[in-house]
Amino acid sequence: MKSLWENSLRLLSERLDKKEINRWLLPLIPLDDDDPSILTLAAPNKFFVKWINDYYLSTLISAIEEVSGRPLFIKIICKNIPSQIKITEPPAVSLTHKKAEPVPLPPNNLGLNDKYVFTNFVVGDSNRFAHAAAFGVSNLPGKTYNPLFIHSPAGLGKTHLINAIGNHVVSIHPDTKVSYVSCENFTNQMIKAISEKSMESFRKLYRNTDVLLIDDVQFLGDKESTQEEFFYTFNTLYDQNRQIVLASDKKPKDIPGLEDRLRSRFEWGLIADIQPPDVETKAAIISRKAHDEGIDLSEGVAYRLASTEDSNIRVLEGYLVRVAAYSSMTGQPITINLANHVLQDALYKKEVTVDDIIKTVVLRFGISLTDLKSSKKNKSIAEPRQIAMYLARKMTDEPLIRIGEKFGGKDHSTVVHAVKKIKSRMENDFHFRRDLDQLEKNIRGVD
Ligand code: ADP
Ligand code: MG
Repeated sequence: MKSLWENSLRLLSERLDKKEINRWLLPLIPLDDDDPSILTLAAPNKFFVKWINDYYLSTLISAIEEVSGRPLFIKIICKNIPSQIKITEPPAVSLTHKKAEPVPLPPNNLGLNDKYVFTNFVVGDSNRFAHAAAFGVSNLPGKTYNPLFIHSPAGLGKTHLINAIGNHVVSIHPDTKVSYVSCENFTNQMIKAISEKSMESFRKLYRNTDVLLIDDVQFLGDKESTQEEFFYTFNTLYDQNRQIVLASDKKPKDIPGLEDRLRSRFEWGLIADIQPPDVETKAAIISRKAHDEGIDLSEGVAYRLASTEDSNIRVLEGYLVRVAAYSSMTGQPITINLANHVLQDALYKKEVTVDDIIKTVVLRFGISLTDLKSSKKNKSIAEPRQIAMYLARKMTDEPLIRIGEKFGGKDHSTVVHAVKKIKSRMENDFHFRRDLDQLEKNIRGVD
């Protein structure tokens, strides 16, 4: 694998700028994998992984495929260099060509995300109550508030908190059976169980659990048979003093289509909400995330990022990733100025322009602007050009002629041809379509 990677790097050095190679690709370390159809590359931190996935993945895939002569499954994982022997972090996986095998879940903590724990949950006025309730429940499951119902708008930490409950319970009572499931998964598993005539084992799975954590309960609304099944699961667990925790983006009474008998049960225990965080809490969360990711961030910059109008923590995490990636890419330290610059890009670019698209495509495919606007016909240049034309057509209201002009004065039939070609490839190639979706997100800055 090492020599495959070295040869791929050689090929890539013909396609990408030297600066990019040095900054983004040389730090990647190929790891040995038992499976010869997988090439695992270790990156120094999580935002690096994200950046490679967002901007270099397809370039990497095509170069590696060319060198090896066969399709390979490429995994970019996060690893603190230089100790490169054992991977202990859960891999951030990028899927190509092959679906990942489902990972068998350990029997006593079904579906829990071990990333979300109490120790990395920042407590502020906005979430103090929900945190205290969650912590209380996790110390005495089934004995304090049952059920515990946590609600808030998206991105304020519900999923984090309910996973933290599960992780805490498992850490102090390893024999306790904890199940985390989103309402959607619960529904899908139920439908599958019905069609496979395995309802018994489905019921057993959830009715034998000691702590049941159900996420995104708002999706129960209008799903009659799921509600029915869930009602019996709820009763069984409740009658045996097992703990039930629910998270939802709406209060029980505001979930449309929720049966009264369930709504009233959801209200039996404690209802705790999480409010949008104030600027101090937002800054503390950002600082905490930066610390966990090994990003050197001053308090001032954390405040700058926190003082945007967004209260969705996921959005704030996105800013942090961008700032860190930008700093790494340009070699500049993370200052307030740099944060302003990145935020300006992220915040004020409401409408996408053809230039935005061109800029992102050029970066993503590692070709030069001159080449993109040239008439060169080799695939590594013509294809990104066609993709950019297609996206320009899709994402802006510019007329064909104007789009052609932006690409070095092409005529409108060239744009029409490009749009047709990319459209038809999208219809036939799932991976290609997914890559373009991601590219669109990058352009809109909502990845
Ligand atoms: P929700 O389920 O309410 O939509 P999540 O639990 O998925 O929100 O939170 C979104 C992101 O924000 C996650 O990465 C989570 O770790 C982070 N987050 C939210 N609140 C906090 C907090 N108080 N401390 C640390 N991280 C938080
Ligand atoms: Mg959630």
